[in-house]
Amino acid sequence: MIQTCPRCQKVHVSQGSLCLACRQKEDDQFALVAEYVQNNPHVQAKEVAEETGVDVSSVMKWIKEGRLIAHFRYTCERCGKTISSGRYCPECVVELQHDLNRLKDSLTKREGYYAKPDIKR
Ligand SMILES: [Zn+2]
Ligand SMILES: [Zn+2]
Repeated sequence: MIQTCPRCQKVHVSQGSLCLACRQKEDDQFALVAEYVQNNPHVQAKEVAEETGVDVSSVMKWIKEGRLIAHFRYTCERCGKTISSGRYCPECVVELQHDLNRLKDSLTKREGYYAKPDIKR
C-alpha cells in the first residue's frame, strides 16, 4: 500500500501510516516516555515532553490511544478541567453526547436531506 508519511511527507510502501524510519523513531520516543513515566508517575504530560524531548502531542496521542498508561493528569480538550483519562472530562462527555443527539435530530428532521445528493460535475 503506497502512502505518504504524515511526519516526513515521504512516499513509502508499508502497513500503518508512518514510514519505517518515522515508526522506528516513534518507537524509540515511546520507549523513552514510557520509561520516564514509570520512574516519575506523577509528573505532568508537559514535563514528560520537556524532559524526554518528545513532542507533547505525541505523548497525548499515546495516552488517548491507551498505549501509554499514565498516572499523571492533563486537561480536558473542551473545558480545560484536569482529567486523567480520555479526551474530555465526564461532564463534557455528557454534553458532547447531547450535542451529537441534537445534531442527529436536526439532520433527520431536514426532509429530503439524504434524498437529494449534490450532483457534482
Ligand atoms: Zn516518515
Ligand atoms: Zn471538560
